[in-house]
Amino acid sequence: MLHKKENKRTFFVDAMLGNIAKKLRLLGYDSKYFSYIDDEKLINIAKKENRIIISKDENLVKKSQKFGIESIFIRKNTEIDQLCEVVRYAGLRISEINGDTARCPKCNSLTVHVDKISIKEKIPSKVRELNERFWKCENCSKIYWEGTHIKNLQKLVGKINEKLQ
Ligand SMILES: [Zn+2]
Repeated sequence: MLHKKENKRTFFVDAMLGNIAKKLRLLGYDSKYFSYIDDEKLINIAKKENRIIISKDENLVKKSQKFGIESIFIRKNTEIDQLCEVVRYAGLRISEINGDTARCPKCNSLTVHVDKISIKEKIPSKVRELNERFWKCENCSKIYWEGTHIKNLQKLVGKINEKLQ
């Protein structure tokens, strides 16, 4: 098992922004997300775990700031612009994508590098032929490979960095 360095910033992403949570997880940022959670509970968890709240709900942002919790108020509507807002505010550096630090987009757990022979039955043969590196979620056991895991995101990250220049 590879030793992985934890990223510093952690997030709590509000219900309307599930895509943002998934992208942040793939980028290696620990990001909590629930499709439904009430404000009070969200604020309590964010405070306890020192997470930055990301939300489109201005009331929630104001409330969380009253409790001294850092929060990012998302004003834009497209995924790429919303990610730019997060990256800019939190001062993230996302130029390098590393499959070994990516988190499971489904459940936010860490993923570990797995040998492709060990997952032979779980992956279509075509995928096995085309990919060398595979990762498995430690929690939900979902398997990821570079095609899904890295390449699309690499493009998106390139676009975000262009926009932020
Ligand atoms: Zn998972």
